[in-house]
Amino acid sequence: TTEYVSGLALFDAAVAENPDDVFLIYFDQSLTFAEVDRASRALAITLREHGFSDGDRLGLYVQNNPAFVIGLLAAWRAGGAAVAINPMNKTRELTYLLTDSGAVALLTLDDLYTGVAKGVIESGATSVHTVITCSALDFQTRSDPRLFAELERTRPEGTLDLVTIIDDVVGGDLPEDSPGPDHLAVLAYTSGTTGNPKGAMNTHGNLAFNAQTYRDWTGLKPGEGILGIAPLFHITGLVGHIMFAMIARSPLILAHRFEPSVMLDAIREHRPVFTVAAITAFNALASAPGASADDFESLRILYSGGAPIAPAMGDRLEQVFGAYIHNIYGLTETNSPSHAVPLNVRAPVDPASGALSVGVPVFNTVVRVVDEGGNDVAVGEVGELVTSGPQVVAGYWNKPEATEKSIPGGALHTGDVGFMDADGWFYLVDRKKDMINASGYKVWPREVEDVLYTHPAVREAAVVGVPDDYRGETVKAYVSLREGQSVDPDELIAFCKEQLAAYKYPRSVEVVGDLPKTVTGKILRRELRDQS
Ligand code: ATP
Repeated sequence: TTEYVSGLALFDAAVAENPDDVFLIYFDQSLTFAEVDRASRALAITLREHGFSDGDRLGLYVQNNPAFVIGLLAAWRAGGAAVAINPMNKTRELTYLLTDSGAVALLTLDDLYTGVAKGVIESGATSVHTVITCSALDFQTRSDPRLFAELERTRPEGTLDLVTIIDDVVGGDLPEDSPGPDHLAVLAYTSGTTGNPKGAMNTHGNLAFNAQTYRDWTGLKPGEGILGIAPLFHITGLVGHIMFAMIARSPLILAHRFEPSVMLDAIREHRPVFTVAAITAFNALASAPGASADDFESLRILYSGGAPIAPAMGDRLEQVFGAYIHNIYGLTETNSPSHAVPLNVRAPVDPASGALSVGVPVFNTVVRVVDEGGNDVAVGEVGELVTSGPQVVAGYWNKPEATEKSIPGGALHTGDVGFMDADGWFYLVDRKKDMINASGYKVWPREVEDVLYTHPAVREAAVVGVPDDYRGETVKAYVSLREGQSVDPDELIAFCKEQLAAYKYPRSVEVVGDLPKTVTGKILRRELRDQS
């Protein structure tokens, strides 16, 4: 059972029980639960006064700033839902998300407004009628030149100012009804790693359930800090940072965006205990200039989700952090976790494939492994993972056909291919769409990447299928190298050839400076495929 009926009820409980505890830390400033509550009520009242009605959507186009959290709560308090928007999005993408979601109001930062959103709204393509802005420099007094070198406080005309609203609005009408578990809380768009983003309808019940999952599985105690590495607009940040901090009564440390040296300073200053992020972010933190094991001492509870952990990389990072990095797995469509490795348990590595387990299903969650015909396969056999549970989203916004195809009867066809071992541990083989078909042989990029990660010169690796006249598709690897290392592509090919069947080893290897990634740190194989 879920303790709270909604994300809002969960927050209200935190405000009632721990009003003066710190909830958000942003550089040198902090906000308590009560302060965030007051701010979000002021914004909600203002939204209602400007015509925001029940069921309406507020777009949140903001970096990791307290404004995101205030906006999220304000949307709920005003009787509606939030649309979580990637702040890296430019005109085309922002237009798509605002039109697709039908947002009527937008909360954004001054520079994002002036640079991108203003043009989108003035184009008349969207239904946004109210824009609220604040500066990335608000909610802090000591700004960081590494992030804000050229930023000045410039209040754009024609928008409402968030800080003025918070300071001035003291009373007003708000809807009396609180949201129920089936009400839409957040439209979270899929990353677009494999196609066009779709708005996953995350309900209040989904959020309340997975907040509880994070708390119960990680054992974080009240007051222990959460380092906000993942972007808040992504489901990992939304649930693994914001909702988790609310239910655990923990301070959430925000730092605008992920800049390793800035994060390192935040760790030194605030000594967080927990974080969850893609493994690439742990890798970046570990190589931040001046980072040492002492810096990471407070970070005792570490989870990595959103992208696979190559076992060799997991081992290397455990040395740096002095703590085991637990795997956690889920999708935007499962509101973050469906599987996790329990605290203080080391995930097994499958002896045959060398893959690291993503964990076991979290409470109340049933996961089937099925073949092409939808029949359950035997233990140890590979198939598609189909997930049912209280965290599976209600569907895709305005896309009944996509919903029927991917989530028929509430069971999510994940597009991830994997298997379960005799003890109930799950392993991912790869994503269905990334399979390479070389002369009719199935090659899963993950397996080849895992081998590449064991080479001492390799920092990151991505394997894709490229068109080939003879085989149909052939295997190509892109790698970036560790600091101060160099390697001949032919040596890497030979290295893989020794460890993989003839149809699997890469026929070409390209060494690049950096691999393309999503803002959540996922390596974008699609982009590499397109450029091949
Ligand atoms: P799109 O659906 O638009 O292509 P996306 O699937 O990348 O975007 P997300 O919902 O952010 O969007 O990512 C979910 C996917 O991330 C999962 O389907 C899985 O392939 C991968 N993933 C998540 N956690 C893990 C993990 N712990 N290990 C391996 N892969 C993971």
